[in-house]
Amino acid sequence: MLTVQGIPAFSDNYIWCIGTDSGPDVALVDPGDAEPVIAVLHAQGLTPRAILVTHHHPDHIGGIDELVAHYGLPVFGPAHEDIPHRSHPLGEGDTVALSELGIHLQVMDVPGHTRGHIAFYHAEDSLGPAMLFCGDTLFTGGCGRLFEGTPAQMLDALQRIRALPDETLVYCAHEYTEANLDFAHIAEPHNTAIAERLTAVRAARRQGLPTVPAPLGLEKATNPFLRWDAPELVKNAETFAGRPLTTPAEIFAVVRHWKDTLD
Ligand code: ZN
Ligand code: FE
Repeated sequence: MLTVQGIPAFSDNYIWCIGTDSGPDVALVDPGDAEPVIAVLHAQGLTPRAILVTHHHPDHIGGIDELVAHYGLPVFGPAHEDIPHRSHPLGEGDTVALSELGIHLQVMDVPGHTRGHIAFYHAEDSLGPAMLFCGDTLFTGGCGRLFEGTPAQMLDALQRIRALPDETLVYCAHEYTEANLDFAHIAEPHNTAIAERLTAVRAARRQGLPTVPAPLGLEKATNPFLRWDAPELVKNAETFAGRPLTTPAEIFAVVRHWKDTLD
């Protein structure tokens, strides 16, 4: 069976360490810092086999140099971004076969946060459940800021993510759920699923527990950036914008801007 553990880095990053319960081999997703990764590999006797990268921001690539120097790993990353030591440039439709782990991941292009951002999708199989490693595109309860892409690009990426099965576990790269749901609750105050999730997430965070991953079905019910067709959200976004909003792209852009003004 697949196992995934989150290695905390910096103040709120997770470096995902994908392995199996049948051996020591692991793959590392977005190692922004080598030091906590090496500590976990060492303590648990794990053997790194690959680095997977979603996008070029320093908190996702900062540890690659040192990990490659230590372990000589292949680096799978977006074809259209500058990724140190990238040996396998990837884009939409590519498959990553991690032979030592026996797992296959499908690559999706998900531009918006950055222009070349990719995500890695594991379809449910005998090894484990559906899982999405989406970097800073979809967050639990929110989505990444649009640093390089347009709202239309990000909406297109999120629409394709929303079409994945509800059971898909969302492994995003930051622990932002509580602040994201604070905004979701403002945007949709009568959505009881948001209120209940916010209560649960606050309790988890008070105990220092992670709130990532979360099932995509819960995201569809509570994440304002997957809810461009929810009437209460649309109405409140129109109030914020001071004008009627008709297309999903307009609604998404206004909700993203609304959250930016509160961050
Ligand atoms: Zn980023
Ligand atoms: Fe990040």
